Amino acid sequence: MATLFTKIINREIPADIVYEDDHVLAFRDIQPVAPVHILIVPKTEIAGVATLPESGDHQYLLNVAKLLAEREGLSNGYRLVINQGEEGGQSVPHLHLHLIGGRKMTWPPG
Ligand code: AMP
Repeated sequence: MATLFTKIINREIPADIVYEDDHVLAFRDIQPVAPVHILIVPKTEIAGVATLPESGDHQYLLNVAKLLAEREGLSNGYRLVINQGEEGGQSVPHLHLHLIGGRKMTWPPG
């Protein structure tokens, strides 16, 4: 079964796509928690950090996050989040990086 995010990658479900290349799709979160809330998703279906392969260029997700943060004008800072598993608050079992910004963040997260 394709994940929700694979369906977005395959254009079976609409999304507000802000970036795409051979490896990654990025789109705006449907329930944003800040003025900027973008999900950066590898096109390869990896369930999460817990099943991340030993090798592979997954730092690339961070490079895309940096690029999009610059494009979105987040020069005062932003937060990158990966939720893993039930206690981590993960709801979609397809690895994704949240890029969140445009307001002052608080710590600790809920
Ligand atoms: P997580 O809870 O870390 O797994 O993040 C999943 C994120 O996907 C949540 O922030 C949801 O709001 C977001 N989301 C769920 N469905 C969609 C969708 N169709 N388009 C965009 N974002 C979505």
